[in-house]
Amino acid sequence: MKTELKAPFYSMRLSPKLHYCMGGAAITTEAEVVSASTCRPIPGLYAAGEVTGGVHGMDRLGGSSSVDCFVYGRIAGAEIAARQAKAA
Ligand SMILES: Cc1cc2nc3c(=O)[nH]c(=O)nc-3n(C[C@H](O)[C@H](O)[C@H](O)COP(=O)(O)OP(=O)(O)OC[C@H]3O[C@@H](n4cnc5c(N)ncnc54)[C@H](O)[C@@H]3O)c2cc1C
Repeated sequence: MKTELKAPFYSMRLSPKLHYCMGGAAITTEAEVVSASTCRPIPGLYAAGEVTGGVHGMDRLGGSSSVDCFVYGRIAGAEIAARQAKAA
Protein backbone atom coordinates (compact mmCIF):
# COMPACT_ATOMS: atom_id res chain seq x y z
CA MET A 1 0.00 0.00 0.00
CA LYS A 2 1.44 3.32 -1.06
CA THR A 3 -1.03 5.51 0.86
CA GLU A 4 -0.30 6.11 4.51
CA LEU A 5 -3.36 5.26 6.64
CA LYS A 6 -4.32 7.75 9.31
CA ALA A 7 -6.67 7.35 12.27
CA PRO A 8 -9.56 7.40 13.01
CA PHE A 9 -10.37 3.97 11.55
CA TYR A 10 -13.87 2.55 11.22
CA SER A 11 -14.82 -1.08 11.16
CA MET A 12 -17.92 -3.20 10.87
CA ARG A 13 -18.74 -6.66 12.13
CA LEU A 14 -19.28 -9.33 9.46
CA SER A 15 -20.78 -12.73 10.06
CA PRO A 16 -21.37 -15.64 7.65
CA LYS A 17 -24.92 -16.01 6.31
CA LEU A 18 -26.56 -18.76 4.29
CA HIS A 19 -26.67 -17.58 0.69
CA TYR A 20 -28.41 -20.51 -0.96
CA CYS A 21 -29.38 -24.05 0.06
CA MET A 22 -28.68 -26.63 -2.66
CA GLY A 23 -30.93 -29.30 -1.15
CA GLY A 24 -34.71 -29.61 -1.19
CA ALA A 25 -37.68 -31.48 -2.64
CA ALA A 26 -37.17 -33.09 -6.06
CA ILE A 27 -39.54 -31.79 -8.74
CA THR A 28 -40.48 -32.79 -12.28
CA THR A 29 -40.23 -30.45 -15.29
CA GLU A 30 -43.91 -29.63 -14.52
CA ALA A 31 -42.89 -28.50 -10.99
CA GLU A 32 -44.65 -31.48 -9.32
CA VAL A 33 -43.00 -32.63 -6.09
CA VAL A 34 -41.59 -36.17 -6.42
CA SER A 35 -42.22 -38.58 -3.53
CA ALA A 36 -39.00 -39.88 -1.93
CA SER A 37 -40.66 -43.25 -1.25
CA THR A 38 -42.40 -43.91 -4.60
CA CYS A 39 -40.23 -41.72 -6.89
CA ARG A 40 -43.53 -40.60 -8.47
CA PRO A 41 -45.09 -37.12 -8.51
CA ILE A 42 -47.39 -36.41 -5.54
CA PRO A 43 -50.73 -35.41 -7.14
CA GLY A 44 -51.51 -31.72 -6.59
CA LEU A 45 -48.27 -30.85 -4.78
CA TYR A 46 -46.09 -28.31 -6.61
CA ALA A 47 -42.93 -26.48 -5.59
CA ALA A 48 -40.62 -23.81 -6.95
CA GLY A 49 -37.60 -21.91 -5.74
CA GLU A 50 -35.23 -22.63 -2.92
CA VAL A 51 -37.46 -25.28 -1.32
CA THR A 52 -36.62 -27.49 -4.31
CA GLY A 53 -33.34 -29.33 -4.93
CA GLY A 54 -31.52 -30.76 -7.93
CA VAL A 55 -32.66 -28.06 -10.39
CA HIS A 56 -29.14 -26.63 -10.60
CA GLY A 57 -27.23 -29.92 -10.28
CA MET A 58 -24.37 -30.12 -7.76
CA ASP A 59 -23.76 -26.37 -7.75
CA ARG A 60 -25.45 -23.31 -9.16
CA LEU A 61 -24.41 -20.24 -11.05
CA GLY A 62 -24.65 -17.18 -8.81
CA GLY A 63 -27.69 -15.09 -9.71
CA SER A 64 -29.65 -17.97 -11.22
CA SER A 65 -31.93 -18.71 -8.26
CA SER A 66 -34.38 -15.91 -9.04
CA VAL A 67 -34.79 -17.34 -12.55
CA ASP A 68 -35.46 -20.75 -10.95
CA CYS A 69 -38.19 -19.17 -8.77
CA PHE A 70 -39.81 -17.33 -11.69
CA VAL A 71 -39.68 -20.18 -14.21
CA TYR A 72 -40.89 -22.97 -11.93
CA GLY A 73 -43.32 -20.67 -10.12
CA ARG A 74 -44.93 -19.85 -13.45
CA ILE A 75 -44.94 -23.51 -14.55
CA ALA A 76 -46.51 -24.56 -11.22
CA GLY A 77 -49.18 -21.83 -11.53
CA ALA A 78 -50.04 -22.85 -15.09
CA GLU A 79 -50.22 -26.54 -14.11
CA ILE A 80 -52.51 -25.80 -11.15
CA ALA A 81 -54.77 -23.61 -13.33
CA ALA A 82 -54.95 -26.41 -15.93
CA ARG A 83 -55.85 -28.94 -13.22
CA GLN A 84 -58.59 -26.64 -11.89
CA ALA A 85 -59.99 -26.10 -15.41
CA LYS A 86 -60.02 -29.88 -16.03
CA ALA A 87 -61.77 -30.54 -12.69
CA ALA A 88 -64.47 -27.89 -13.32
C1 LIG B 1 -27.67 -12.29 0.65
C2 LIG B 1 -28.32 -13.01 -0.50
C3 LIG B 1 -28.13 -12.56 -1.79
C4 LIG B 1 -28.71 -13.21 -2.88
N1 LIG B 1 -28.51 -12.74 -4.14
C5 LIG B 1 -29.10 -13.31 -5.18
C6 LIG B 1 -28.95 -12.78 -6.50
O1 LIG B 1 -28.26 -11.78 -6.73
N2 LIG B 1 -29.59 -13.42 -7.51
C7 LIG B 1 -30.35 -14.53 -7.32
O2 LIG B 1 -30.90 -15.05 -8.28
N3 LIG B 1 -30.51 -15.04 -6.09
C8 LIG B 1 -29.92 -14.47 -5.02
N4 LIG B 1 -30.08 -15.00 -3.76
C9 LIG B 1 -30.87 -16.20 -3.60
C10 LIG B 1 -32.36 -15.87 -3.71
O3 LIG B 1 -32.63 -14.68 -3.00
C11 LIG B 1 -33.18 -17.03 -3.13
O4 LIG B 1 -32.79 -18.26 -3.70
C12 LIG B 1 -34.67 -16.79 -3.40
O5 LIG B 1 -35.08 -15.58 -2.80
C13 LIG B 1 -35.50 -17.95 -2.86
O6 LIG B 1 -36.86 -17.58 -3.06
P1 LIG B 1 -38.01 -18.51 -2.51
O7 LIG B 1 -39.28 -17.79 -2.82
O8 LIG B 1 -37.82 -19.90 -3.01
O9 LIG B 1 -37.75 -18.59 -0.94
P2 LIG B 1 -37.80 -17.40 0.12
O10 LIG B 1 -37.47 -16.09 -0.51
O11 LIG B 1 -36.97 -17.89 1.28
O12 LIG B 1 -39.34 -17.34 0.51
C14 LIG B 1 -39.91 -18.27 1.37
C15 LIG B 1 -41.05 -17.56 2.07
O13 LIG B 1 -41.79 -18.51 2.83
C16 LIG B 1 -42.07 -17.92 4.08
N5 LIG B 1 -42.29 -19.02 5.03
C17 LIG B 1 -41.37 -19.84 5.61
N6 LIG B 1 -41.98 -20.72 6.42
C18 LIG B 1 -43.30 -20.46 6.34
C19 LIG B 1 -44.44 -21.04 6.94
N7 LIG B 1 -44.35 -22.09 7.77
N8 LIG B 1 -45.65 -20.55 6.63
C20 LIG B 1 -45.77 -19.51 5.77
N9 LIG B 1 -44.72 -18.91 5.16
C21 LIG B 1 -43.50 -19.40 5.46
C22 LIG B 1 -40.87 -17.07 4.42
O14 LIG B 1 -41.19 -16.09 5.36
C23 LIG B 1 -40.56 -16.48 3.05
O15 LIG B 1 -41.27 -15.29 2.81
C24 LIG B 1 -29.51 -14.36 -2.66
C25 LIG B 1 -29.73 -14.82 -1.34
C26 LIG B 1 -29.13 -14.16 -0.28
C27 LIG B 1 -29.39 -14.64 1.12
